[in-house]
This record gives sequence, structure tokens and C-alpha cells, in this order.
Amino acid sequence: MELFDYLSEYDYEQVIYCHDKASGLKAIIAIHDTTLGPALGGCRMWPYASEEEALLDALRLSRGMTYKAAAAGLNLGGGKTVVIGDAKKDKSEALFRSLGRYIQSLGGRYITAEDVGTTVSDMDMIHTETTFVTGVSKAYGSGGNPSPMTAFGVFRGMQATAKVALGSDDLSGKTVAIQGLGSVGYALAQQIHDAGGKLVVTDINPDAVMRAKEEFGAEAVGIQEIFDVRCDILAPCALGAVLNDQTLPKLKCKAIAGSANNQLGEARHGDWLHSHGILYAPDYVINSGGLINVADELEGYQADRAMKKVDNIYNIMLELYAVSERESIPSYAAADHMAEERIQLMQQVRSTFVQGSRTVLQK
Ligand code: NAD
Repeated sequence: MELFDYLSEYDYEQVIYCHDKASGLKAIIAIHDTTLGPALGGCRMWPYASEEEALLDALRLSRGMTYKAAAAGLNLGGGKTVVIGDAKKDKSEALFRSLGRYIQSLGGRYITAEDVGTTVSDMDMIHTETTFVTGVSKAYGSGGNPSPMTAFGVFRGMQATAKVALGSDDLSGKTVAIQGLGSVGYALAQQIHDAGGKLVVTDINPDAVMRAKEEFGAEAVGIQEIFDVRCDILAPCALGAVLNDQTLPKLKCKAIAGSANNQLGEARHGDWLHSHGILYAPDYVINSGGLINVADELEGYQADRAMKKVDNIYNIMLELYAVSERESIPSYAAADHMAEERIQLMQQVRSTFVQGSRTVLQK
């Protein structure tokens, strides 16, 4: 791969390689776009098979964060850190403090957070060296576990989706099939149950399924059967790429609204849903509640304010569906369109010099 060609094709700003022999740190920070504000994105620790694989992951994920923050209405750009290493064996205080120093050296252009392979205590170690970190312990001003906020955002996004696909945002009497009853899926099931919805669920963890049956009167189906369920809304809350050539022909739902990242196997699967009249809630918009919650820490965390912003996912989803309808484009493309339009507009707004403006021109 010719790196600069790739950076140019997708408009990346900066890639930083961080190396510290003493701690064994090998990390890559990718900053995609800071038009809207500092690049925020998690720190992933993974035993990548090659440096190229790590770089591509950092690039891909940082770009995704630009779109997610822009669509959520946040004044943040997109970035990501990948640490090459085994989260079970290679972690140390020195490694995270070393990374913290690199993040500090960027002067606020990039803010990190937890991701796959990293924890709150890792963020606390980074916090020893820099304030440009979120997802730290509550003692340092964190908003705590973001999953309940993600679930609330998915619930509000699901209501908006129901309004468009089913004619009303009232979920009472509606059947929702949930794949995955983890941190987000279970909290989502609770809210659907409280709203009077009927639940059909599956999970590889039989305890979670049993609890949902007992607490919500949910109907349980097998792992493979969830895509065959006749329902109003399907909520993928477990794995990515679940909307693919194998699952699409089975679907008997009117809409899809769940928390899982990267639900579409490929963009063409989003086109298929659009042409078959199944309304798809773009994943990075409907699951942005956790990011919104974490971003609130940057203003001095206030739960009420964070919740209000997450609640607004309802309106963002309605706007997105309106764009999809107006432009005759699939909903996933409407989400990208909205994010890109916001970034372009803000570039223009900020081209006017204003002394002391809170938001400074980044580019
Ligand atoms: P989690 O690990 O707590 O839950 C995932 C659940 O899915 C588990 O209960 C697991 O047993 C189940 N599962 C795994 N494979 C399955 C399969 N083949 N069939 C059925 N169930 C299966 O994760 P989570 O935090 O609840 O996140 C769920 C999804 O939402 C993930 O894709 C995650 O990336 C995404 N997401 C989460 C957040 C958040 O704040 N937690 C934010 C944005 C996106």
C-alpha cells in the first residue's frame, strides 16, 4: 500500500507511530479529520498479525469515528489508536503512560477512550500523563459505563424507525427480535418491554436468555433462527456483518434497528434492504449514545445533559430518513451524506476569522 495515496484518497490528516523500547509500546494513532473539533476515538489493543493490518485498522476506524461524531451532532473529529500487543499479556503501567505521553504531545488534537482490549484502569494510567483521555474512573470525572446510554439511544432510534416504517413510534404490541442480550441488548430489551413491546430473543449465553424469558416474558429462539423470525423490527446487538447474502433472503421484518457495529456485510446489502422496503437504521448513528456520553466528559460530565443529547438521536434518525426519502437514496448513504454535509458546512463557517471564537479553525 502506498500510504500517502491512501491518506489522500480518504482525506486523512495525520498518522503517528509511537515507539518506546523500554515499555515495549508499539502504537499507531490515526487522525482522520478535525474539522469539527479534536479527534476522539478509542484505543484498541490487539495482537495484529502485521503492522500493515494494524495501520489499516487504525485508518478504517478513525474514519468511521469522523462520520459517527459528525452524524451525532458532536463537535469532534475522528481518530483512533491501535496498540500492537496481547491485552492479556503485554499490558503494563509503563506502556500506557508512554502512550499517554505521546497523546499529550499532540496537544489535544486527539483524545483517546476505551475500546476492544482496553479498560477503565488502562485509561487511568494514560490519565497520569495527559488529560486528553475519556472513559476514566468516576473519580477522574467519567460518565461511567456507556452501555446504558447506548441502549437508550438505540431505543429512541428504534422509536423513530418505527414511526417511519410502521406509522407510529409507539412500540406497544410490536414484536422486536433481538440478537444478543449483552450490556446493550439486555438494557434495550428492558426498555422495549417497559414500552409494551413483545420480545423474541437469542444469545449464545443461555443465562441471559433465561433471564429475558423470566423478566420480560420473551420468547427464545435458536442462534440461527433469529433472522427467520416474523417481527416488526430486528435488533442486531451482538456481531458485525450480520446483514449479508445468507441472512437477507430470510428476513421477515419491516425494519432493522440495533446496536451492533458494521451490521452491513457490504454497502450493497444496504441497497438490497432499501429496494426490498426494509428500513435500516444506520448503525453508527443509532448506536452513538455511548460516544455522546463519553464526549460529555469533555465539558465536565453531567448525566442529565448527556441523556438529553442521546434523546436527540430520535430527531437525527427522523431527519436521516427524510434525507433518504427526498434524495431517493438508501438510509446508510443518507447517514454518510448528512455527516459529510455537516463537515463541509462547518469548513465554510469557520473560514471567517473571529477573534476569540470558542471553536478555532482547525485546517
Ligand atoms: P456484549 O459483549 O456485552 O454483548 C454481546 C452479546 O452478544 C453477549 O451477550 C454475547 O453472548 C452475545 N452473542 C455473541 N455472539 C452471538 C451470536 N452469534 N448470537 C447471539 N448472541 C451472540 O457487547 P455490548 O456492549 O452489548 O455491544 C453489543 C454490540 O453493540 C457490539 O457489536 C458493540 O460493538 C456494539 N456497540 C456497543 C456499544 C456500547 O456502549 N457497549 C456502543 C456502540 C456499539
